[in-house]
This record gives sequence, C-alpha cells and structure tokens, in this order.
Amino acid sequence: MQIRDGFIGTIGETPLIRLRRASEETGCTILGKAEFLNPGGSVKDRAAWAIVKDAENKDLLKPGGVIVEGTAGNTGIGLALVGRARGYHTVIVIPETQSQEKKDMLRLCGADLREVPAVPYKNPQNYVHVSQRLADELAQTHEAGAIWANQFDNVANRQGHYETTGPEIWEQTEGKVDGFTCSVGTGGTLAGVAMALKERNPKVRTALSDPAGSALHHYYAHGSLKSEGTSITEGIGQGRVTKNLEGMPLDTSYTIPDSESLPVAFELLEHEGLCMGGSTGVNVAGAIRLAREMGPGHTIVTVLCDFGTRYQSKLYNPAFLREKELPVPNWLQE
Ligand code: PMP
Repeated sequence: MQIRDGFIGTIGETPLIRLRRASEETGCTILGKAEFLNPGGSVKDRAAWAIVKDAENKDLLKPGGVIVEGTAGNTGIGLALVGRARGYHTVIVIPETQSQEKKDMLRLCGADLREVPAVPYKNPQNYVHVSQRLADELAQTHEAGAIWANQFDNVANRQGHYETTGPEIWEQTEGKVDGFTCSVGTGGTLAGVAMALKERNPKVRTALSDPAGSALHHYYAHGSLKSEGTSITEGIGQGRVTKNLEGMPLDTSYTIPDSESLPVAFELLEHEGLCMGGSTGVNVAGAIRLAREMGPGHTIVTVLCDFGTRYQSKLYNPAFLREKELPVPNWLQE
C-alpha cells in the first residue's frame, strides 16, 4: 500500500514541475519544486518539522510544551500544524503588515497569534526579539516548558533542506541539474539545497534571487549589506547574514524588482494554471536570469513556495496593485 503517515509523513517528496514558458523563452529546462503541495501549503513545513524534530531529539520539547516563533506566516502555519500533529501549543508573533489570509489561517490552526508593529531587526520590538522574550518567559512559567524555534539562526532549518529538498532535486533530475536559485527569508532553503547539490557536483551553479529592499544581494555582489527599494512580496528579503546563510556555497546573485517578478507570477497562472505567491515570482524570474546567464540547454531548478490564495488581498487585488503602481493581471483588469 502507498500510504503517507499523517501530516508529518506528507511533508516533502514534492514533484518537480517543468515550467513551459520559462523553458521555451530561454531554451533551458526550468523546473519548479512544488513546495506549495506540502500539507501546510508551503516550503516552510519542511523547516517547521526539521526544527521540532531537532528539539525533540535534544529533549527540549515535552508533551504539551509550547513552540514560540516570530514569523511572516508560513513557518507559523507549519509549526502550528506540526504542533497539532505532535501535541504542542504554538505561540506566533507576526508583523501586522503580513497578509490577512495568513493571519486567518494561523488563528484557524489554533495558534495563539500576537501581532506586532513591523519595525527593523535592530529595534527590540521587532517580531523576532518579541518572540524570543516570550519563549524565555513561557519556558519559566508554562508547566510543560517552551522552546523558541528561532528559524533564522537555528541551523536545524537548513539541515532539513540539506537532508530532504536538496537530495530530492538531485534524484528527480537524475543528477542532471546545472543550476539552482531561490530567494531568501531565513536562508534555510537556499543554503541547505546549495550545500546538498554542491556536495554531489561542485559545478552546479547556485544563485540568490533577492527581492528589492533586501540587503543580501549587495552583500554577495559587493561585500556589504545594503538595501534599496521595496517589495510587496512576503516571507523573503533579509537585512543580515543569518546563521543559516553562513558558509553557503553561492556563485552569483540577482536583485529582482516587483516589476519583473509580478508579471512572471501572473504568467504562471495565466498560461500554466499555477496560482503562486510573490516569492515564487521572484524565484522563477531568477531562474530565467540564471538560464540566460548559463545559456540554452541547461537544467535550472527553483522553488514554487506557496499558493497565491495566501495573498488574494494584495498580489491578486487590482486596487492594491494600482495603489502601488504595479502591474495588474490582464484578466483582473476592469
Ligand atoms: N517564500 C515564502 C512564501 C516564505 O514564507 C518563505 C519563508 N519565510 C520563503 C519563501 C523563504 O524561505 P527560507 O526561509 O527557507 O529562506
């Protein structure tokens, strides 16, 4: 019988989808790892389980314990569902600017949701620091204890991708992958996959696809952290080198504005029936750039992170897009 064991057994082993238009445009084979098909609906289910598994193995989580995390949403959804499946509570701290859809989903999953103002990392009220303080407090006061998932600097996150996403891509392409790119939130996906692929073939070209407003492109291209512009994409963009990014084998990096990534996301829906979130637009736009740089005939892999329905009120909302002076999908034009 072919049966997967519950929520956790359903994480991973996602298909690799050939992206027709991107492939035709570049003469390469551009493939998207369908992470939106994970049971919690995003690539972050892998990190959530990797972090919880690591905490269980280290005896840090006890039955009925609390998982606390600061997250743009998807990690929180993954943690809340892993928590349900394994018997833990979750407390999620989220910047109030994140989409209503993700907040609603978190409440629906039973997470104790705390919204905080979106302030920079250096401010003590930043969601990451608030979540750390809450975890410390609950570790003292909650009878079954608490852990801070700490997705940005807990390398169990990239280890999960190193052990699963990377090897899956290698096997699914029968070792024929020539290039890999994706954007960075924590860096778990890019670093974990890059490490796994480079270990199998050092010639695999690895690239960062960074949204506008993130400081990482400048860091990898010029050696210092500097951000320019803004982006409506969520869950990606980073102002510092997280522990998950440390030592990542990276060959090149691109900065991708919304004016480039949004049309790519809209085309995926219009012509291929793939309804994706904004970070997927950045990733596929990055894969197209990498394909152009490497030339025809190469196999380039990227990540399809989550469903567009998580961003209906923004990315697929003509009024919102017009207000931001961004392109509107053809079929949503009045
Ligand atoms: N896309 C989306 C929609 C996300 O939520 C995230 C994680 N915050 C990422 C991409 C980036 O993944 P990672 O944290 O592994 O860098």
